[in-house]
Amino acid sequence: MSAAAWLATAALPVTAAEREHVCRYCSGAEHAPAGAPKERQYAPDRQVDLLHITLDVTPDFQARTVAGTATLRFAPIAKPVKSLRLDGIHLNVREVKGTHAVRDYSVDDQCVTIVFEKEIPAGEEASIDVAYSAEPAQGLFFRTSAMGFPEGDDHCWTQGEPHEARHWFPSFDYPNERASSEIIFHVPREMTVVSNGRLIGEAEEPGGLKAVHWLQEKPHANYLICVVAGRLEKLEDQHGDTPLGFYTQPSKAKYAANAFAETAEIMDFFEKEIGVPFPWEKYDQATCADYHWGGMENTTLTTLTQRTIIADEVENVRSSRSLNAHEMAHQWFGDYVTCKDWSHLWLNEGFATYYALLYEGHKLGRDDLLYGLYLDARDEIFPEHKDHRPIVYREYQQPREQFDYRNYPKGSWVLHMLRSMLGEGLYRQAIRTYLERHALQDVETEDLREVFEETSGRTLDKFFDQWLYHGGVPELKVTSKWLAEERTAHVTIEQTQATSDDVLLFELETKLRFIVDGKPVDEPIKIDGRRHDFYVKLPAEPQIVRFDPDYTVLARVEFDLDDKQLEAQLGNQADVIGRLQACEGLAKRKTAASVKLLRQALNADPFWGVRAAAAAALRRIRTTDAIAALVESTDQPDARVRNRVVEEIGKCYADAAHAKLLEVVKREQNPAIVATALRGLGKYQGQASIAAARAALDDKSFNNDLVAAAFAAIGDLQARSLSDEVMKLIKSRET
Ligand SMILES: [Zn+2]
Ligand SMILES: [Zn+2]
Repeated sequence: MSAAAWLATAALPVTAAEREHVCRYCSGAEHAPAGAPKERQYAPDRQVDLLHITLDVTPDFQARTVAGTATLRFAPIAKPVKSLRLDGIHLNVREVKGTHAVRDYSVDDQCVTIVFEKEIPAGEEASIDVAYSAEPAQGLFFRTSAMGFPEGDDHCWTQGEPHEARHWFPSFDYPNERASSEIIFHVPREMTVVSNGRLIGEAEEPGGLKAVHWLQEKPHANYLICVVAGRLEKLEDQHGDTPLGFYTQPSKAKYAANAFAETAEIMDFFEKEIGVPFPWEKYDQATCADYHWGGMENTTLTTLTQRTIIADEVENVRSSRSLNAHEMAHQWFGDYVTCKDWSHLWLNEGFATYYALLYEGHKLGRDDLLYGLYLDARDEIFPEHKDHRPIVYREYQQPREQFDYRNYPKGSWVLHMLRSMLGEGLYRQAIRTYLERHALQDVETEDLREVFEETSGRTLDKFFDQWLYHGGVPELKVTSKWLAEERTAHVTIEQTQATSDDVLLFELETKLRFIVDGKPVDEPIKIDGRRHDFYVKLPAEPQIVRFDPDYTVLARVEFDLDDKQLEAQLGNQADVIGRLQACEGLAKRKTAASVKLLRQALNADPFWGVRAAAAAALRRIRTTDAIAALVESTDQPDARVRNRVVEEIGKCYADAAHAKLLEVVKREQNPAIVATALRGLGKYQGQASIAAARAALDDKSFNNDLVAAAFAAIGDLQARSLSDEVMKLIKSRET
């Protein structure tokens, strides 16, 4: 291993313990610069129907270039075509010929334009061969030992979404066109080539090469064309008649089975939940070195970050489950039906995000589904509440601006609200109709609304208008009073968000739940105004009053509860969201009583997410008692909670916390948790921290957790002596 490769790995940001970002999600909205002109983006016209793409190309692993022929078969749609424009960035075109005589062609930085001798009549099939080469800046990536990557791992991989494919072959590169496709890839014989569709064959060629031929017969969008080639090891499985494969670089093969393990089970769940069989003929996943995001859902071939391969000793602190499920869900949502342009991206990403959560709920229990929605709302959506851009949005400058919290978690929440409002049966029926009606076509938001309206008989204009065509989230202030004489609960709900052209007053359906002597009393409510007063007669004063107890509405709710209510809510085993909210409420009270309750929850709550939330709440209280409660609670059987407790201890600046972190570094077996402790130690100057960081530099654990954490700690520690250690280490690993 060379220094460059090792440093690159060590410097990777560590994935958050509980969540994993997937696909191309960028955390934090990328707003257009202020004052920028607001140009609206639409799908381009289609001059021709592209029917089939054949790429017969040879990658050069030394020069990192590609050369060969792209053959495009097409037919003009409505009018005769005299000249044809293809997307292609910095391609060197050597020759263009075809079934119809070519008069001339021109190439610039952005496209290849072909002029025919005679017009090609509408509906007439034609084909052109473009002989070209490229040194792609994007779209096709080489990762070789000559570049510093591990010896024996040489490979290349492609990335199409949103507009990268045009960097390595000429085509019509927008999602509103579909064609079948075919790849003939010429590589050194020891390499494996995997691509879309099915393997047609392999043939040996002179010069130590072989040609590997793949065919995707079902039409798909250009950005979903993919090839991964290199020294790859393969794992196999099967779901029904669908072969499943997992390809990885030899240096990562040891734990590849962990990332692959649930694939068949996920497919089984999706087929039942979605009601449409897996729509392609095989499903492969392939890891790629340096993959920019979590993964990419190319038809029948998902590419994945190598970070999804996680060693056994990391336990469940990190998991491939959510990424695996997210990318597979795209095989239906994104691939089988594809957003017409990036303004409707939520039809890809909102679905993939939600179906990954549905799978977690299926696999682990409903509390995990609700917890995922809760974290998405609290950590991803609410922090952006001042951003008023809608989900369906045309004023982006770059497509990547669309890949943010609106199209991922907020889109997922929109589906959750529809499912909650209509019920699982109607929801599933609508989704199935939507997929069957638009199979192998592009879709826009109205296609989905139409199907939901047809299926349910409901008019959903307002729902789609407020959630998809307008921005913001409802902000609700809830108060509750017990009117003893009338035996009536008086609940007021105010909708306080500022409304504008961009944000509407929301219409919401949910319920209030009163727990009276252990028994729930539900009151359905509808909110559509600025203020509502609800009076509900009850047999006695309720111990708990809950707004939206089934968690069916996305809203920032402010509802201040007294100590007694918080305690009752934290003790309600049937209400995971209520318990999470109680932890947040208790965190604001620095009383001995709240520390006692949170300590109890941290060690005894049945759901791991509540235990983690209790740890966070104790850290926010940060009294001597609260810190002691954390320090004495590191013995957690669930590694996710153990990691969280250590993380929170790392944020308490106290002697007891420092001592505990040193102890964790010494005793803990899980390298991910030791890494968390090391990061915390960086804040404590002194020899003990320096010694711990220095020792961690020698770590050889599979996921390189400790070295990365040691670097973070060294960055914080004021210890000049450590830079010599680092230099020595780098030299020792140079080959
Ligand atoms: Zn995605
Ligand atoms: Zn087509």
